[in-house]
Amino acid sequence: MSAPNGGMPTAEGKMRAFSFRMDNPVAPYLIAIAVGDLAFRPLGPRTGVWTEPSMLDAAAKELEDTEKMVSAAEALYGPYRWGRYDMIVLPPSFPFGGMENPTLTFLTPTFIAGDKSLVSLIAHELAHSWSGNLATNATWNDFWLNEGMTTYAERRIIESIYGPKVAKQQVALGITAMNDAVTEAGGAASLDSRLHLDLKGRHPDDGLTDIAYEKGAAFLRMLEATAGRGKFDAYLKGWFERHSFQPVTSAMFLADLRQHLIKGDKALEDRMQLDQWVYQPGIPANSVPADPQAFADVDQAVKTFTAGGRADSAKWNGWTTDERLRFLDSISPKQPTERMAELDRAFGLNAVRNNEVKFAWLTMVVANRYDPGIPALEAFLGSIGRGKFVRPLYTSLYSDASWGRPIAQRVYARSKSLYHPVVGRDVDKIMAGK
Ligand SMILES: [Zn+2]
Repeated sequence: MSAPNGGMPTAEGKMRAFSFRMDNPVAPYLIAIAVGDLAFRPLGPRTGVWTEPSMLDAAAKELEDTEKMVSAAEALYGPYRWGRYDMIVLPPSFPFGGMENPTLTFLTPTFIAGDKSLVSLIAHELAHSWSGNLATNATWNDFWLNEGMTTYAERRIIESIYGPKVAKQQVALGITAMNDAVTEAGGAASLDSRLHLDLKGRHPDDGLTDIAYEKGAAFLRMLEATAGRGKFDAYLKGWFERHSFQPVTSAMFLADLRQHLIKGDKALEDRMQLDQWVYQPGIPANSVPADPQAFADVDQAVKTFTAGGRADSAKWNGWTTDERLRFLDSISPKQPTERMAELDRAFGLNAVRNNEVKFAWLTMVVANRYDPGIPALEAFLGSIGRGKFVRPLYTSLYSDASWGRPIAQRVYARSKSLYHPVVGRDVDKIMAGK
């Protein structure tokens, strides 16, 4: 449970009673219980992982940097206030990437790649121990205070442990995701591209977009660049101290920034354009651009491939997961069949084990009606229930009435019972054409 264990279970007739006790105030969305055949392995003095016994070795290996991450986060944002930081790796039907339940982060197993290349997810959930769990968005209109701050902090933790190059690449991927989110929200003039939303009469999930995550993170990167890293880091540590175990709003954050960081410096405030960032749509002009060098080698390979050059397996084999994702995201999503076959042959994409890379590839398989990718697609949708992967694949399969829809219907009939209800409900809607 997302609370410290209250000791050994006690016998109650034929049953056993487990007790937990959380002394800090937490918002109700952070209360969670998992039940199963679970084993535990310590990772450090205050960190450890729970999962089914068959997953324990792989999970512990992938999570071996967790204790270092907690220390890195503390150096940035102040003491970890929750005692233990444990994680539970759930079955593949878990519908989310992670959920930052206090003292026990819930995780999808799809981040296990064998090479720690997807552990920014852990940095993210851990950072919520400050942004989200300590200072909690008071309403879903200010979801960006949870997610934007956390996405920013996630990359600072990654930078502390894996170095600035990895962090810069993840920032660059984030900026692409932010721009895509603005387009999806209806463009730079759409009110849905604001950080502070007005969800009155709407479903709170309507605010669950990359605007909150990536525009929020971009806002904090701009504040860091404008104030200077040292000053901004000290400020943010103070923000969490001043708002520990409290609900917070955008208005509170801006007032706190003005009081403790800007301190009447009119020129500094003008450079920040605070109200435009928080209350206006689109991305303000003072947003910090991606480092053009972050993916220099990959961007060159994209150019070569786009101009008709060969898919270079030597380069691909030397790339990190982020570099591979950048390549697949940057080449045209529409490719002729022979080019799809060439990519598959050169990079072994149908057999790739990294789930983020596989998802990027399967997205192309569907967009290009690439039949040799169908067995991999069916295996993926039949074994993984993470909404981030499942929803878009069914959506694009369904939208292709003659080729994709029969595939979607066949796979869904077989896989439906594997999906968590929050994903199953959405796929039901997609398959009903809603
Ligand atoms: Zn989050």
